Amino acid sequence: MLTIPCPWCGDRDVHEFRYGGEAHLKRESRADTLSDAEWADFLFLRTNPKGDHAERWYHAHGCRRWFNAIRNTHTDTVLAVYKPGEKKPEVRK
Ligand SMILES: [Zn+2]
Repeated sequence: MLTIPCPWCGDRDVHEFRYGGEAHLKRESRADTLSDAEWADFLFLRTNPKGDHAERWYHAHGCRRWFNAIRNTHTDTVLAVYKPGEKKPEVRK
């Protein structure tokens, strides 16, 4: 069973959370000048690494706050969590 350590609530079952996608995406400020292909890339293309991945998570059945997590997608383990606005922590390789 996967547990996720919410930065405010501590360890909780994964079923209390909702996945929010890739973390640290930059908003596109040139949207009106992009081609359709470039706009589609911005909207739909995401990294999909086999390994450490920075993700957004929402504690839907808890404190109802968003936070970021570093999760290894290969082992499905959460290596670190951090609050929005905090610097992405370094995790061991
Ligand atoms: Zn929480």
